[in-house]
Amino acid sequence: MPVKVDKNLCNGCGNATEPRCVRVCPGDLLFKDSANRCAVRDPRDCWDCAACIKECPRQALEMYLPVQIGGRGATLKAKSEQGVLSWFLTKPDGTTETFIIKTRTEKSQS
Ligand code: SF4
Ligand code: SF4
Repeated sequence: MPVKVDKNLCNGCGNATEPRCVRVCPGDLLFKDSANRCAVRDPRDCWDCAACIKECPRQALEMYLPVQIGGRGATLKAKSEQGVLSWFLTKPDGTTETFIIKTRTEKSQS
């Protein structure tokens, strides 16, 4: 399933010539369109790695989960902050669930 871009939330990462999502996509599938918004070059080539979703600072990207995992129409967004990655699951019935993952270990005190 390709990622979906919310054109109302995406601001093209401002004036960046290479937005954060574009920079991290391993398949070079994302680009800035003429309206300064993220767009997907060839959606069929997206392999759902979620790298762009974790990288977007405005939560403008989301992906559909496979039916076997989330049910038909379940979507996933993410928000990455210092040391914490939050996943926001929206289920087919519209209810939501958040999963918070610590991404860095504290510095050792020794
Ligand atoms: S990282 Fe987010 S805000 Fe920036 S261009 Fe990509 S989708 Fe838009
Ligand atoms: S999910 Fe992965 S492959 Fe698909 S557009 Fe985002 S970064 Fe590229």
